[in-house]
Amino acid sequence: MITGLRAYAIRVPLIEEFRIALGASVYYEGVIVEVSTDEGIVGYGEGVPSRRITGETTDSILSLISRFRRMLVGKDPLNYVELLERIDRAVLGNPAAKAAIDIAIFDIVAKKYGVPLRTFLGGGPNSFETSVTIGIMDKETAVRKATRLVEDGVTILKIKIGLNPTEDIERVVAIRKAVGDDIRIRIDANQGYTVKQAIRVLRALENVDIEYCEQPVHWRDLSGMREVRRKTEIPIMADESVHGPRDALEVIKLDAADMINIKLMKSGGILGAIKIAHICEAAGVECQIGCMSETRIAISAGLHLAVSLDIIKYSDLDGYLFLSDSVANGLSFEKSKNKISDGCGLGINVDKKKLEKYLITKI
Ligand code: MG
Repeated sequence: MITGLRAYAIRVPLIEEFRIALGASVYYEGVIVEVSTDEGIVGYGEGVPSRRITGETTDSILSLISRFRRMLVGKDPLNYVELLERIDRAVLGNPAAKAAIDIAIFDIVAKKYGVPLRTFLGGGPNSFETSVTIGIMDKETAVRKATRLVEDGVTILKIKIGLNPTEDIERVVAIRKAVGDDIRIRIDANQGYTVKQAIRVLRALENVDIEYCEQPVHWRDLSGMREVRRKTEIPIMADESVHGPRDALEVIKLDAADMINIKLMKSGGILGAIKIAHICEAAGVECQIGCMSETRIAISAGLHLAVSLDIIKYSDLDGYLFLSDSVANGLSFEKSKNKISDGCGLGINVDKKKLEKYLITKI
């Protein structure tokens, strides 16, 4: 039985400014949730606000979590589907607040069964290759950064574009030249282009061996995205256009994308992500598990899910690498692979002293 819930809103500086087409950030801000049971099991979850993608703020997440706490205390976490569906129905949207609860409940359930979360979800390896992201920056700096990452053993790069078509083309071409043909390169425009611009940029990059391009145009413009898709050979991955299962269905019905990027902070957590993945699997649409700027808590949750589902062919789970400090351990990065520990549940240990150190407020 769930006996209590605490939430810590924290802010951790990033190693360096991170710029994408939607804006720039210099710190991570999110809400870490700690749910306890009468058997002494503690589950951790995390909700990261994204004002321009899900419309949430740290305050809105905290406010909803205190409401969700009243719905959870006294309930059996093993009835997790019913519990999480009730929370989902209690308020429209707000997926990151819901994800914080969802991740903590899944952590508890897997711990209760005494297995890693990935085993509870169906099994899978303990590691998955990820891309490492290069934000929007000048060409020379981007090339230096890409070269250093590749020297460190990174084999998949994700280059952010979407602010200036001409500079974007030059930067991606320069990085490809610098890192050679063996490195996989993905690009992500974060809705930055018009349909015309997107077609121009993608056609210009067709001979640069791009694995796929995420969200070239506005998230609501599915017919525009379909037009881009039809006019370029580079596969298109819908990201901001797909929050939940219904969005995935819509993208698939309209043939608007080749692939779909699932993020726990958009889907309301693992349960919603599984629903999206199943829809995609039925349609033969490959998925990626991606992330926001997240700590090892939410990244681990994404990783356990990524390794357990066959239709998830790609992962972009590098958000924790850019934080200047870590509030949890149990997840490591080597070469281009994320590796989860063999501990039960998420397999992570949260450092309470660090939570206090970076605390904004707690409830
Ligand atoms: Mg993206």
